[in-house]
Amino acid sequence: MPANLLILGGTTEAYDLADRLAGRGGWHVINSLAGRTANPRLPAGETRIGGFGGVEGLARYLAERSIRAVIDVTHPFAARMGWNAAEGCRLAGVPLLRLERPAWRPGPDDVWEPVETWTGAAEALRRLAARRVLLAVGRQELTHFTDVDDNWFLIRLVTPPDPQPAFQAAEWLYSRGPFALDDERALLDTWAIDTIVCKNSGGEATSAKLIAARERGIRVVMLQRPARPAEVARAATVDEALNWIDGLSGTSAYLDAEASPYQRGV
Ligand code: NAP
Repeated sequence: MPANLLILGGTTEAYDLADRLAGRGGWHVINSLAGRTANPRLPAGETRIGGFGGVEGLARYLAERSIRAVIDVTHPFAARMGWNAAEGCRLAGVPLLRLERPAWRPGPDDVWEPVETWTGAAEALRRLAARRVLLAVGRQELTHFTDVDDNWFLIRLVTPPDPQPAFQAAEWLYSRGPFALDDERALLDTWAIDTIVCKNSGGEATSAKLIAARERGIRVVMLQRPARPAEVARAATVDEALNWIDGLSGTSAYLDAEASPYQRGV
């Protein structure tokens, strides 16, 4: 019987990892999605959908399903799940790996304004006297900007928000990445954008706007990534994660390890 491996997903890398593991055998892959998206694309392997019920719920799930390893491949900004995973795996005695794509880093020609919070991003727009702003943030974040009333906003989202927050001056644009460089150049030029607000997601699907901004000297207010538990092992690529998994499956002592307190039903 292959051992159970849990992927905390919701990212491109999580789908890639599930695909790669499905092609190799040795593990039964269970993917976990938060359930934010209606009709999500299903990854290779088994899929469960919805929260676990906090740290205790996760630790219980790991024991009930005899999970032998967890890979946290949630989005860089899904930090709550990362902290829960660290504590849940510690309680259940299950090894955890964090697979996270590298953050974007500014080059010498980039004009970035790093901020730690969305409130800080709104303050930066006021302080920097921004005028025409591309808001490339999630729909939950929009309310932080409704009071910034000296600005005109181009708000790019995947789907329309419901309800739609009230902005004094805004244009709404619905499209899903990846975005091509020429399209991003045209977008910034057509709408005469002088500032972009986004979060440091990393990856290539949404990085073209940063290149187009650099070429034009356009300022980018960049939300920095939230902290994650420092003690958790890390991988930056799917290949690195597979190496870590191979290290586990080579350790039969680990797979036969004595049950954790949770596995004993404590
Ligand atoms: P979050 O703030 O870190 O997590 C909030 C709660 O959602 C968690 O405590 C957990 O509930 C549940 N949850 C999150 N990810 C889960 C998963 N993969 N499987 C089961 N439950 C999960 O997360 P978020 O920022 O709301 O993101 C939710 C999902 O969307 C994540 O899977 C993430 O990868 C994906 N996503 C997020 C972003 C972003 O910018 N935040 C962007 C793209 C995709 P319980 O405490 O009940 O277990």
